[in-house]
Amino acid sequence: MASDKAVETKEVTSPYSVLGVSENSSYEEIKRAYQKLLLKFHPDKLDESLSQKDREQACERFLSVDQAWKLLNDQSSKAKCDRNLKEQKLSQDWPVSAEVDLDDMEYHEAMQTYSSDCRCDGEYIISEGDLENGQNIVCCSGCSLSIRVLYNMLSDEEAESEDDGVGGIDNCC
Ligand SMILES: [Zn+2]
Repeated sequence: MASDKAVETKEVTSPYSVLGVSENSSYEEIKRAYQKLLLKFHPDKLDESLSQKDREQACERFLSVDQAWKLLNDQSSKAKCDRNLKEQKLSQDWPVSAEVDLDDMEYHEAMQTYSSDCRCDGEYIISEGDLENGQNIVCCSGCSLSIRVLYNMLSDEEAESEDDGVGGIDNCC
């Protein structure tokens, strides 16, 4: 497929910001934003009077818009992208202090959540839904620590990246 190379490119810029939409935008909103930008930057739609340089810029913009759309239009790449963004954000705000195996967490059937006690009186709580969405970083309810939950729904690639492990449990609170 011709689109492969575009999708693989790892960009720090989030595809959401390229399209000028928020991460919570619906599919329709994202699509509309994409179509608008597409019309604006499409090589065939550019104003005749534009300089060569402006054309090149528009063309670059067109390519990044197109790439962002390909990422967000595809369920699995969108989910992956959301996950990366979320992790990036979480690890900035909440440094991961420990890794906890899901098997070591307590399961609450009624709420379909897993919990683990923190050294403060707080708890780390993650729902099955979060796990299914690929989320694995949980913030403590009582302090600013967070843990990474290890479980085997991970793809190979992600399992590898878990290896750069974060050390033992720090004193909490
Ligand atoms: Zn805590």
